[in-house]
Order: sequence, then structure tokens, then C-alpha cells
Amino acid sequence: MLRTLALLYITLLRDYLFTSQKVLTYGYILSGRFLLSILQEGLIRSKTVSSWALAKFTIEKGIRMNKESIYGLTFDQLAAWLKEYGHKKYRTLQVWDWLYRKRVTNFSEMIDVNQECLQLLAAHFILQSLSEHLMQESADGTIKFLFKLKDDNLIETVLMRHKFGLSVCVTTQVGCNMGCSFCASGLLRKNRDLSSGEIAEQIMKVQHHLDNTKQGDKVSHVVVMGIGEPFDNYKNVIDALWIIKDHNGLAIPERHITVSTSGLPDKIYEFADSNLKVNLAISLHAPTNELRTQIMKINRAFPIEKIMQAVDYYLEKTNRRITLEYIMLKDLNDRREHALQLVALIEGKRRLTNVNLIPYNPVDEHHQYQRSEHESMLAFYDTLKKQGINCSIRLEHGTDIDAACGQLRSKQIYVEARMEVYLYDDPENS
Ligand code: SAH
Ligand code: SF4
Repeated sequence: MLRTLALLYITLLRDYLFTSQKVLTYGYILSGRFLLSILQEGLIRSKTVSSWALAKFTIEKGIRMNKESIYGLTFDQLAAWLKEYGHKKYRTLQVWDWLYRKRVTNFSEMIDVNQECLQLLAAHFILQSLSEHLMQESADGTIKFLFKLKDDNLIETVLMRHKFGLSVCVTTQVGCNMGCSFCASGLLRKNRDLSSGEIAEQIMKVQHHLDNTKQGDKVSHVVVMGIGEPFDNYKNVIDALWIIKDHNGLAIPERHITVSTSGLPDKIYEFADSNLKVNLAISLHAPTNELRTQIMKINRAFPIEKIMQAVDYYLEKTNRRITLEYIMLKDLNDRREHALQLVALIEGKRRLTNVNLIPYNPVDEHHQYQRSEHESMLAFYDTLKKQGINCSIRLEHGTDIDAACGQLRSKQIYVEARMEVYLYDDPENS
């Protein structure tokens, strides 16, 4: 009996971790609540009591199992999980169709899915781990959403409208530990990583908004450039990318997805080796270590040469173009000499490199920085172009509302913050 219970405990603990990538604290594992949920699960498995009766029991007793967003499971993960409960692969196809194509917001709406399966899913997962806390719409159609997480943390997601489609800028962490001195997100240290479900669900929330307002539009592009450093939350971000690109689900093409990193070399290598064919952007922002360390303290640990070695590996391995992002800071990194230093850095890889010049969004706490003059930006752009470098200047979105990703959140929690929203537009083509 004891042996059976111990085995059940281990199996269920494994299941919990597998299905939700949940980090369980020892306190929770040892607590009565966890033991109780195991007992319920054991009963469900032994089929001595129907799962529906147990779900009802759980609700009636006010014991809520710590359920995770179903959007956090890749197709294969959900299929493997359902298989353990005896469900065939076509169930996963059915459920994903309801989630990502018909886009229901409640399990009970999945009318052709068998009841037992629905009850099982409802006992373990939720469809809404984010709730809309605030929304701002700009005259140009940009919409900023402030979402509340289950633990009351706030995150920001931005919808932008372009000539080529609709893009969503997603957040990957609550705050950021990289501490770049020009960035509002770095003002607040990282509180926690987002789960893959919380990342993927941001896109679903925006899509549901489009569905509900009968705009008939579909999110076509995703930029992982909201609050946080994606490569500091690598696994969850990568899982979320697999989910949103899956042809059984949202099917956002990989070439329409861009991840931006402050440049963690180990993860750049890992990303190059992954089979994901999504675009990569590196926040370079300065052509020398001296200047970069001044504005990005992460450069002490990962100097430019280490990043460039990783970039070389990425280019060779993937043969895909990489973007170097460069915020234009007045009199700091925007002179001709800086442009020429940047050209030297790109030498040998210009065919596969694009430089994206970013107008700096002033952040009150960082008043030492100012946006470069328009003329300086154009001169910088010209210097790069004349040297044969692919280059673009980013257009800004939603400037009549809280200008960029991070601001809405920070205003809400009384800390001023700003982040850029992204658009790759070449002035020559616009
Ligand atoms: N942490 C990742 C992705 C999120 S930041 C990264 O740093 O790449 C997304 C982009 O916004 C980065 O290029 C970042 O440097 C830029 N950014 C941050 N603060 C900004 C500001 N005040 N004005 C303009 N761009 C900013
Ligand atoms: Fe973090 Fe990116 Fe902001 Fe730097 S720029 S603090 S890495 S979010």
C-alpha cells in the first residue's frame, strides 16, 4: 500500500512538472494541499469516482488546483499527456482546432470533444491565465494591453498595424535583470519569468480581441521585444515559439517571428542549433566595448567580440540574416566615427547583416540620454549605406498613447518606464 502510494506520488509529481513546466516549492509538495490533489488524481486514475464528480468536489470544497494555461503545451506535449489518459492523437487535433482556429475561450464550447476528455482538461488546465487590466488605443490603431497575471503581476503586450499585416510585441519576463541604462524595463529588476503559456496566451488574447471586435484580422507577425530578456528565459520562450508557429495551431510563419536579445552568447549558439527558423535581432547599440559597457552593463560579462563570435556561428549554421539593433543616443553613439566602427565590426558578414537604427524613446529616470537629432540619424544611415551595409530606420507606433512597451505597465505601478515597439521599415521603401 505504502509502495503504491509512493509510486503514485512520484508519477503525479512527474506529470505536474511535465504538463505545466511548473516549479513546485518544497513547501507546496509537502503541504496537505498537494497531497489532497494527488489523492483526487489517484481517484480519477483509478476511475473509482468520475473525474467530473471530483472536479465538482474540488470546486465545492474551494480547493483550487494550481492550473496552468493550456496554451503553454506544444502539440506533442498535449498529445503525450492525453495519451497517458488513453486518448488518441486526433483528440489533440480536435482540441487545438477549437483553441487556435475556432478560438473558443471555454472548454465547454468544444462541443464535439468527448465529455470525459473535456473534464480531464478542465481539471488540469485553464484557458485564461491572463486578464485584461487596461487597454489603450492609439489614433494609428496601435493597441497596448496591460494584462494581469494570476499572481497579480502586470505585463504589457502591444498590437501594431503595418502595411504588411498585424504584429504583436510580447513580454517574456516580469521586469529584467540586464539593467541597460537607457531602458525602462531594466529599472525594475526581474520579478519572475513568464511561463510558455503566459507568453503564447498574450498573442491569443490579442487575437480574441480582434475576433470579438469583428475586425476579421489575424495576427500575422510576432516580435519578442516586450519587457524582459528572452534568452534569460530561454526554454519557455522557445516552447512558446514552437506553439505559435505550429501549423495545427496559430500557424504564424517562422519568418514572421523575431526574437531580440541583449546578446547572451551561449544562448545564441543554442538558438542557432535549434530547428527554429525565426529571425534573430541583437541589441548591439554601440560599436566598442567601452561605449557598450557604459550603457549596457551586461557587456562586462559578454563583450562585443564574444557576441560577434556567436553571431558568426549563427550565420554559418543558419545562413539566415541577422539584425543588429542600434539605439541612436544624442552625442553618445551617433557620430560618423561610430558608424565607421560599426562598419568595421560587420566586415565579412555584411551580406547577412541588417542594421536597424532605433530612435531613442526618452525615459524620465534616464535623463542623461537624449534622442539623436533627425539629421544625425540620417547622416549615420547614409554612412552605413555608402559602405554597403543593409540598414533601416525604425518607425514608431502609438506615440499618442503611452509611447512604448513597458510604459503602460510602469505607469500603472507608479514607476515611469519605456520601451520601444518594433517595426522594420526601410525609409527607402516607405
Ligand atoms: N531584452 C531584449 C528584448 C527586449 S528590449 C533586448 O534587449 O533586445 C527590445 C528592444 O528595445 C531592445 O533593442 C532595446 O534595446 C530597446 N529599447 C529599450 N529601451 C528603449 C528606449 N528607451 N528607446 C528605444 N529602444 C529601447
Ligand atoms: Fe532588459 Fe532588453 Fe531592457 Fe536591456 S533593453 S534592460 S535587456 S529589456
